[in-house]
Amino acid sequence: MEIIRPTWVEIDLKKLKNNFDKIKKISGGRKIIGVVKADAYGHGAEKISKALEEWGIDFLAVASFEEAMRLRRAGIKKTPVLVLGYVNPSALKEAAINNIHITLFNVRFIEKLHSYEGKHTLNVHINVDTGMGRIGVFPEEVLDTANEIKNMENVNFFGIYTHFSTADSDPEYLQVQLARFKRILYELGSRNIKPKLIHAANSAAILNFNETLFDAVRPGIILYGLSPFQKDNHAFEPVLSFKTRVIYVKRIPSGTSISYGRRFISKKKMIVATIPVGYADGLPRALSNKGEVLIKGKRVKILGNVTMDQTVIDVSGIPNVHSGNEVVLIGKQGDEEITATEIAKKIGTINYEIISRIGKRVERIYIK
Ligand SMILES: *Cc1c(COP(=O)(O)O)cnc(C)c1O
Repeated sequence: MEIIRPTWVEIDLKKLKNNFDKIKKISGGRKIIGVVKADAYGHGAEKISKALEEWGIDFLAVASFEEAMRLRRAGIKKTPVLVLGYVNPSALKEAAINNIHITLFNVRFIEKLHSYEGKHTLNVHINVDTGMGRIGVFPEEVLDTANEIKNMENVNFFGIYTHFSTADSDPEYLQVQLARFKRILYELGSRNIKPKLIHAANSAAILNFNETLFDAVRPGIILYGLSPFQKDNHAFEPVLSFKTRVIYVKRIPSGTSISYGRRFISKKKMIVATIPVGYADGLPRALSNKGEVLIKGKRVKILGNVTMDQTVIDVSGIPNVHSGNEVVLIGKQGDEEITATEIAKKIGTINYEIISRIGKRVERIYIK
């Protein structure tokens, strides 16, 4: 494929496969719900989902009905897709037709289910708020909710799940959430209500809390090879690299200002290079005068403000830099590596945000 704009993302599908296999191993034969929301955390949901479907993943999960339909339109037809967030009631028929499972997270939605008149079975998962505090029916509402759904025609109580808020940070609170969840499962069981699929674990829980695995697990970030604990060198390999090429090199004398706001002014003669990538591509503006990139296998500094489309780097110490030289923003070059986690730490966020915000206009290239 010809790259017209020399700024691109490389997605290594072999690494994705290795990560997927590792998750299967760790979760010991449970079903896998691959989380591909937000364009598969920036990796391109269609290609990632197609690959996962080919490798036999059990479910895919997305954040919205629109994301689910995008997968269906791209030809991902076999795998059930669970929407973790809000679905407009007007989309219920379309959801059922397309084997898109929905989440019931608000008891007020039950009346919308009552008015569902489609011919296809609508599969519903109840999300229980055991302490995440975002969405979910309260524990004391679950029994009545489950009973009501059970009595509906063409609406199937398929699954029940919860989501942990501290699987990466507070094991005690996780245990509180887990106990609440188990109590509900016990109550359902004692009334002989048995949804097909019980699930709870996100990536951090899969890695640290074997007791949260239930029937299925919901890995996101570890599929993409990054650590939910914001550490490098864990068991998974990053799938994504973010690259560009030098488009301009120049020598500048002392006293030259670089980029908007003159936040960098050279104190000596320098050689600087411009790269065609900016914050609209997902190179955070917070890296201004702070970030590093790789060129010829060496780390060099970002000079001045990162702008919307272009950024300037210091190549004074690197011999023979010219237009066309590859620059790595995230990934490996030679013996050096810059990870999304490193960038996140530098600017006070998490690796999830760095990868999921890589811009739409950046071409994704898939390596088999
Ligand atoms: C995003 C999300 C996940 C995946 O989380 P990771 O930390 O990326 O594994 C799992 N479950 C729900 C409900 C989510 O919203």
